[in-house]
Amino acid sequence: MYRTLNSYLRQRFGCKVYKLALDGGMTCPNRDGSLGTRGCIFCTGSGEFAEGGTDIAAQLERAKQRVAAKACNGKYIAYFQSFTNTYAPVDWLEALFTAAMKPEDVVALSVGTRPDCLPPEVLDLLERLNRHKPVFVELGLQTIHPETARYIRRGYDLLVYDEAVRALNSRGIEVVTHMIAGLPGETRAMTVETARYIGQSGAGGIKIHLLHVLRGTDLASEYEAGRVPVLTMEDYIKTVAACLRVLPPDMVIHRLTGDGDKRTLLAPLWSADKKTVLCALNRALQDIQQGEAL
Ligand code: SF4
Repeated sequence: MYRTLNSYLRQRFGCKVYKLALDGGMTCPNRDGSLGTRGCIFCTGSGEFAEGGTDIAAQLERAKQRVAAKACNGKYIAYFQSFTNTYAPVDWLEALFTAAMKPEDVVALSVGTRPDCLPPEVLDLLERLNRHKPVFVELGLQTIHPETARYIRRGYDLLVYDEAVRALNSRGIEVVTHMIAGLPGETRAMTVETARYIGQSGAGGIKIHLLHVLRGTDLASEYEAGRVPVLTMEDYIKTVAACLRVLPPDMVIHRLTGDGDKRTLLAPLWSADKKTVLCALNRALQDIQQGEAL
């Protein structure tokens, strides 16, 4: 048993809420040469479902059509997913986010970014917007272990994450932290340490991803050279269960599976069968309680 995103959103907004994945057209300091040019080792940069194009109103409409079959009487969260969505001049960000939050049926804004891309003027902007409608900031921490962070080329230290969470919380902005299970060189115990840390860090929500090896990434080369093992479904489920047991009971679990792009997924291939994975996960998680091992 765990606190699902669905139940949290229903409680907060009084109805079913769907995410509309939008593309702000930004890049990332890990790719544009500021910190690096090849990005994190696993990253293709884009969100699988993000709508592209510069016209935000048009993107919102197209994204709504994508979820139309399931979204009756629902509300929406405008979600900037691809790359680093605070990596631009603040005036430009203000226009972008304001346009995305404008429709009445958009009840919140969610911004995926890096903790080292939150300068004071961007924090001030997010604080202002948060007074209008709730703003969530999603931070890609992935791991607390410095050797893994170096290997995946994350490009910032854990202290930077801590400081970003503190700054966002002090402005009343809810943080959702991403972590990855199955990172090269990490044992299950190390992954659980990351979950425990995130649970104590001030984040209100968490996304637990499975490490996907996607074609065209440096991780794919490592995998093909036999240097990177991937988790079996059983291992992944045991790891997720162990993570949930150390997370505070009130932390919102935004995600327990990754949405790797099936067209580029190299491994693990079992993860492409989302229905089977979710069934197996739900069965296994019936026997555990979020926070029971705190
Ligand atoms: S995972 Fe995020 S921070 Fe890393 S290269 Fe990709 S967009 Fe940049």
